[in-house]
Amino acid sequence: MRIKELLKSNAAIGTKVEVKGWVRTKRGNKNINFVALNDGSTIHTIQAVIDASAFPEDLMKQVTTGACIAVKGILVQSPGKEQSIEIQAEGLVVYGSANPDTYPLQKKGHSLEFLREIAHLRPRTNTFGAVLRIRHALAFAIHKYFNDNGFFYLHTPIITGSDAEGAGEMFRVTTLDAKNPPLLGDGSVNFSEDFFGKQTNLTVSGQLEGELGALALSRIYTFGPTFRAENSNTPRHLAEFWMIEPEMAFYEIKDNMDLAEDFLKYLIRYALDNCRDDLEFLRKMYDEELIARLSFILENRFERITYTKAVEDLEKSGENFEFPVKWGVDLQTEHERYLVEKFYAKPVIVTDYPKAIKAFYMKQNEDGRTVRGMDVLFPKIGEIIGGSQREEDYEKLKMRIRELQLPEKDLWWYLETRLFGTAPHSGFGLGFERLVLFVTGMGNIRDVIPFPRAPKNAEF
Ligand code: ATP
Ligand code: MN
Repeated sequence: MRIKELLKSNAAIGTKVEVKGWVRTKRGNKNINFVALNDGSTIHTIQAVIDASAFPEDLMKQVTTGACIAVKGILVQSPGKEQSIEIQAEGLVVYGSANPDTYPLQKKGHSLEFLREIAHLRPRTNTFGAVLRIRHALAFAIHKYFNDNGFFYLHTPIITGSDAEGAGEMFRVTTLDAKNPPLLGDGSVNFSEDFFGKQTNLTVSGQLEGELGALALSRIYTFGPTFRAENSNTPRHLAEFWMIEPEMAFYEIKDNMDLAEDFLKYLIRYALDNCRDDLEFLRKMYDEELIARLSFILENRFERITYTKAVEDLEKSGENFEFPVKWGVDLQTEHERYLVEKFYAKPVIVTDYPKAIKAFYMKQNEDGRTVRGMDVLFPKIGEIIGGSQREEDYEKLKMRIRELQLPEKDLWWYLETRLFGTAPHSGFGLGFERLVLFVTGMGNIRDVIPFPRAPKNAEF
């Protein structure tokens, strides 16, 4: 029986049960041992009470923190204050011992930095158990939300021959010999001899292909890994992260904002309803404000302002920002957090950014200088979602591609959707780890993905 089910079922008192898991702690004396066992199904442990004289000494010696064991016994009411039920052990199997001199996870108090160095074992800590269960619940809720709302899960390619942002540093995918690649007459690499017959990279976003899906199925979403070779060593950036990208035909920017707000609230409510024990644990251990911050999102209607208004607000604020603001500059996290945490004291959606700082595919406004982009800003992390209404006009889109000197010939298929049965459409990207970061209240994005990929770091 999984420990989660066992702890729920008081009815099982007096029955014979068997649990399997890893020893968190062992207390007691020569005669009687109290073993706290965890199997990852819940943050809680079940206590096994083991009468040492009933088992061989050699076997009992192997029951130490970190060991993997199975305990058979009778489920009884516990006299202790910490738990209501426990197992009176009758059978004991040790699957794997863990030498106390070398097992790195002794009791409590390891720093998160240290745990990153033992990412192969950190899922066995309370913190990472909680984070990984919440991460799972959110992933499940994402699929449920879209499925319940008539969206289709579209699988966009991981290997691409195009770059959605037109810039962005990408990881190259190649089978060419790094030491001795085939060269063209001018000394540059001849990619026509590469595996795909052209230069290919790991995707930075599934959006462009997502749009193709939306212009046929009306509502789609992607949920897959994306890669960015940007050398940003921040607590909010990974080189490999997961992104959720809904894309909807017949949605204008307002519908896009409504969806983003409803979606985020749904996910946060889902976590509050389904991950309460883990959230309580994280609140107690790391962040007293956690539950309050999550409720704050649910209780407030997101403030919707234009970029121009945001810049006015920031200029008026009298704050001394590290990066000064003026119309035309991209908003930094410090600006975003100021708007959300101080100025509006609500989540904020900023729209209509200067076209020069946004991607080529965003729908151009009448004013000729802004585009219908939208960023959703959250407390503590700043941008959690970036999206836009897409430019559906063939000529305008082509003009913009030329202005920015993007490789038009690589985008022929994207442009062609505007030539045949084009439609107004919108979409956005939610960074999955940014969401998990927000919901768990953890401080570093490397602690909300099992095996983080970051500059100079691809261990495990
Ligand atoms: P930022 O300005 O924070 O670097 P961005 O503008 O590059 O973000 P987009 O290209 O709009 O982000 O990507 C969509 C979403 O993906 C972002 O809103 C964010 O939640 C997430 N995201 C972007 N880059 C990363 C990264 N390196 N690691 C984790 N999540 C990311
Ligand atoms: Mn970025």
